[in-house]
Amino acid sequence: MKADIQSIDQLLNDLARHNSSPGKGITRPCYSTEYKDVCQTVIRIMKELDMKVYMDDVGNIIARKEGRNPELPAVCVGSHLDTVRNGGKFDGAGGVVSGLEVVKILNANDVKLNHPIQIFCFVEEEGTALQSGLLGSRWFNGEAVESDLLPLKYENKANALEVIRQFRSDFSEVPSFNEIGHDPRKIRCFFEVHIEQGPVLETKGARLGVVSAIAGTSTIEVSVSGRADHAGSTPMDLRSDAFEVAAHAAVEMYRYARSFPHAVATVGRLEIPNGSSNRVPDSTWFTLDLRSADRAVMDKLIPHAKGILDELTEKNGTRVEVSTSHFVPPIELNPGLRKILMEKALSLSDRVMDISSGAAHDSLVMAKYFPTAMLFVPSKGGRSHCPEEFSEAGDFALAVDVLVETILELDCTEKDNSL
Ligand SMILES: [Zn+2]
Repeated sequence: MKADIQSIDQLLNDLARHNSSPGKGITRPCYSTEYKDVCQTVIRIMKELDMKVYMDDVGNIIARKEGRNPELPAVCVGSHLDTVRNGGKFDGAGGVVSGLEVVKILNANDVKLNHPIQIFCFVEEEGTALQSGLLGSRWFNGEAVESDLLPLKYENKANALEVIRQFRSDFSEVPSFNEIGHDPRKIRCFFEVHIEQGPVLETKGARLGVVSAIAGTSTIEVSVSGRADHAGSTPMDLRSDAFEVAAHAAVEMYRYARSFPHAVATVGRLEIPNGSSNRVPDSTWFTLDLRSADRAVMDKLIPHAKGILDELTEKNGTRVEVSTSHFVPPIELNPGLRKILMEKALSLSDRVMDISSGAAHDSLVMAKYFPTAMLFVPSKGGRSHCPEEFSEAGDFALAVDVLVETILELDCTEKDNSL
């Protein structure tokens, strides 16, 4: 009962065909023509696997195969089908393909689970179409509602709600998930297979990572005001240079992040408004993106940034304003599920390790409501969100084998409070 590498490769290629940028990676933003086509393909495959397919009001696809006992909560696998512009064919699609392959293996071996099994394809995970990342999983769990869609624009132009309604009506033959009634208690657990999107697994020679936690993110925006002076005639110790504060703060936060095993700090944007090569900058604006999978570390990063900025501004007579534009706390994935995944993985390969996720995924949302776990497969060169994105179908096959073994073990037990 093993995953078929060729079948996984074929499925990945079938999905990758739906692409508006052939030769330049995969471009399939949510609700685009290519996205509609990929959904049609996936729905067809799900039906061929003898699954009932449903869609909710924002276009999340949920395929379900009943178990022997339909009263039991569903074991779920899923990810997303949208991509960034000129992204790769493995991000998201790899998780959906893994779910399809799990059901294919169970079918091929005439295994009927006690639990229902469901495959999820969440919309707008990337946030490329509506600038509203993780929309599908947030919608499914009631974190996003219709009023949240009203201000959103599709591709920065069209009314998002109209685009979503049109998309849904294009799939009018697919029944609404409401028909089987969504009750959160009807989900026993959620698994997501995903590419790592970083270099850790490859660097360590691992073929699979059991994800321990998903990093939280805090993005702060910092405005520094100083005094404009002549760049030639003002001595260094008599300046209030706004950029100097930004530069020192960035270097210090990079050093501080390196002092923890899994923290990262990034200045992704920096502007010197009205900057001129011969003037001491009187104003600088920058963003600081701080992440860690460890809540205790997250709780230190922002106060450290604020502390260092206060210290620097006091020294050189500048002023600073800090605002938080984005904060998502880190989340630990389910210890019980991780333990089973790790046991099964180690029984199939010795190239397995624990890893934390620096990027957000739908599992970040699902983990708040259901026992959730993730498996990472290596990304070649750590690359993703680019045409060079590549992961081995064989590594997805290992993830699928681990998932099948795990699901079979869970299926023998009733819901356990530790999960
Ligand atoms: Zn993804």
